[in-house]
Amino acid sequence: MDKILISRCFLGENVRYDAGNNLLTQPLISQWKEEGRLIVICPEVAGGLSIPRPPAEINKRSKKIITIDGDDVSDAFSYGAKKALALCEMHDIRFALLKESSPSCGSTMIYDGSFSSCKVSGEGVTTKLLREHSIQVFSEDNVLQLARLLN
Ligand code: SF4
Repeated sequence: MDKILISRCFLGENVRYDAGNNLLTQPLISQWKEEGRLIVICPEVAGGLSIPRPPAEINKRSKKIITIDGDDVSDAFSYGAKKALALCEMHDIRFALLKESSPSCGSTMIYDGSFSSCKVSGEGVTTKLLREHSIQVFSEDNVLQLARLLN
């Protein structure tokens, strides 16, 4: 049975930067939870960042992760991404379901680094690392596509 690495905020856990969540209510999520498929992580919290925490975006030029206060949190993001990969390796995971647009979890879009709510094509730090290791990353926009691939 395929397991799925999933963003903690999708399960209603208040781990977002603003201490909120991104609860996903699709029946498939409950089904996968009951089947024991879900391996849960918030890469930013796993990387040592607090709840709440200042919002951070990937800087367009430097590619560093900078908070709205100007702090460089790239190391924490990178550490969290490595922990996500380690979980995938431990559980032999080939699929991840991660929150779109997050600087960690985004899979097709991210904020543009200007803190003006503008999005650009791109992927988060964790998504990038997982993909480099042949793990397929999906978002809340393509849950059904993921479901079709599962054994
Ligand atoms: Fe959710 Fe990922 Fe952001 Fe954590 S880092 S709050 S799991 S989107």
